[in-house]
Amino acid sequence: MEVKPIRKPDATKVRANLPDDSAERHRLGWDVARSWLDGLTGGGLNIGYEAVDRHVVHGHGNREAIRWIGKNGTVRSFSYANLKEATDRFASLLEKLGHTKGVHVFTLLGRTPELYITALGTLKAGGMFCPLYSAFGPEPVRARMEIGAANVLVTTAADYAKKVQPWRAEIPSLRHVILVDLPPPDISETLDFAKACADVSGDFKIVRTKPDDMALLHFTSGTTGKPKGAMHVHEAVVAHNATGRLVLDLQPDDVFWCTADPGWVTGTSYGIIAPLTNGVTMIVDEAEFDAERWYATLAREKVSVWYTAPTAIRLLMKAGDDLARRHDLSRLRFMASVGEPLNAEAVIWSARVFGKPFHDNWWQTETGGIMIANTAAMDVKPGSMGKPLPGVEAAIVDTSCDHIVPIEAPMKVGHLALKAGWPSMFRGYLHEDARYAACFRDGWYLTGDLAMRDEDGYFWFVGRADDVIKSAGHLIGPFEVESALMEHPAVAEAAVIGLPDERAGEIVKAYVTLKQGQEPSEALRKELLGHARKRLGAAIAPRQIEIRTDLPRTRSGKIMRRLLKARELGLPEGDLSTLEQAA
Ligand code: ATP
Ligand code: MG
Repeated sequence: MEVKPIRKPDATKVRANLPDDSAERHRLGWDVARSWLDGLTGGGLNIGYEAVDRHVVHGHGNREAIRWIGKNGTVRSFSYANLKEATDRFASLLEKLGHTKGVHVFTLLGRTPELYITALGTLKAGGMFCPLYSAFGPEPVRARMEIGAANVLVTTAADYAKKVQPWRAEIPSLRHVILVDLPPPDISETLDFAKACADVSGDFKIVRTKPDDMALLHFTSGTTGKPKGAMHVHEAVVAHNATGRLVLDLQPDDVFWCTADPGWVTGTSYGIIAPLTNGVTMIVDEAEFDAERWYATLAREKVSVWYTAPTAIRLLMKAGDDLARRHDLSRLRFMASVGEPLNAEAVIWSARVFGKPFHDNWWQTETGGIMIANTAAMDVKPGSMGKPLPGVEAAIVDTSCDHIVPIEAPMKVGHLALKAGWPSMFRGYLHEDARYAACFRDGWYLTGDLAMRDEDGYFWFVGRADDVIKSAGHLIGPFEVESALMEHPAVAEAAVIGLPDERAGEIVKAYVTLKQGQEPSEALRKELLGHARKRLGAAIAPRQIEIRTDLPRTRSGKIMRRLLKARELGLPEGDLSTLEQAA
């Protein structure tokens, strides 16, 4: 498909925080970004201070910080002043319980207000915060808390009884469990969140943390293998704040909704820290995805900036254009997507239905914040991840020689690498020093993704290095094949893997799911094979296509190609702790 760029009316007219002008982009860098934050009086940097207290100090305490919408529609609103008090109380509680700087605080919670209070209170107390996705079963919870040496856990009574109590005594580091709902009488070894926080001071003196002090522990999605624990420091807030401003284009009156769960890095970097450091109002919806509910929320809450993921966008596409058109979405100013490649088809669909495109951006748990993006003033090239941000040096490199060699020629596939040293760069994989060291060569961080750069400096995702298919001398990126399949009107989603083949080395196999109202049939399968061959040529098109009702994906919404492959070949399935459902 020949994809035309979606041109912004006139870059100079778009009221964007980051003009698409190379001189202006060049002027911005991490030093400028540092100057946008306060730092602690007398030295030091603390994410909790920058996200919450700073706004109160500057006289914006009455501004709405969090508008929480419960599953049943209950709404709770927290001003920045309310949030300061609540997080001060949680920090005071940690202190009262005898925890000091460096304490490891875990949550196993849905998107409840206590999750946000715990995260920010822990950071203010100088602790390290680690959110666990609430639907994890007992084993993934235990494994993560064990390797993360958890000292405190905040969770619900039901999850505690089911997932933690049976083995609690075997993790001696775990000193306190705090329950956000009333504990049943037989759970005596826990504290009650509300009561414990009410009994301590609502005015806490923030612990003096340095930029390099540990702040966050995030486990990766487990898309390519066993999840890794990526460690982040307080300095990451420089990138969270700057990318909230420059990429998400957050402006003071915005109502911002990041749909990601804080159990994954997006839900913390952009579902807590970036919006709050930028002083906007953020929406938290406790409920899971539902197309009708999401559109109603966007309209009712007058959401102006929306950050979501391809998997949700594809579900919205599946639900049909009419549903979107039944809601008043006129307040939406900027829409962005991350987590997986965003097919050109989805960008074009959004421009048609919303009158503005989704802006794709790229980053990883390891990068801590957005690195490559389509920003508000840029022309969007559907299917491209956009351009590196000011301060980010990204390159396509060849890793096959003794030294890393940047590939300058446009549209050549290579490893996506970043010059090490950006503020939100991860500082280690928990207990995996060799693995961390192996990510860096000659001052470059190797991302594990393959990409290309075009003559205008836009980056194009090709696939994860692990997923790339080598067939009869061709290097085939699954994304290209999946995108071509998704252009067919019957296809909702596609996943492509390589299968061993004696003659070609590997052959391409595709799995697709269908849009609402489409029925699987042999005729349709043949039509899809023909469509792909016409679009991609016989060398790249899938030899096999299987129509399925669903695809296996991670709980953070990413298609697990490694699982499709393992099942196809009868190989061990590997770590399934982040698998959403048996598909
Ligand atoms: P694991 O490392 O455990 O296999 P994961 O890589 O999926 O899991 P994350 O850190 O959540 O864990 O995801 C980052 C990866 O997601 C990137 O390396 C890239 O492969 C993919 N990704 C994120 N954003 C984009 C995007 N805009 N376009 C293409 N791929 C993306
Ligand atoms: Mg990864």
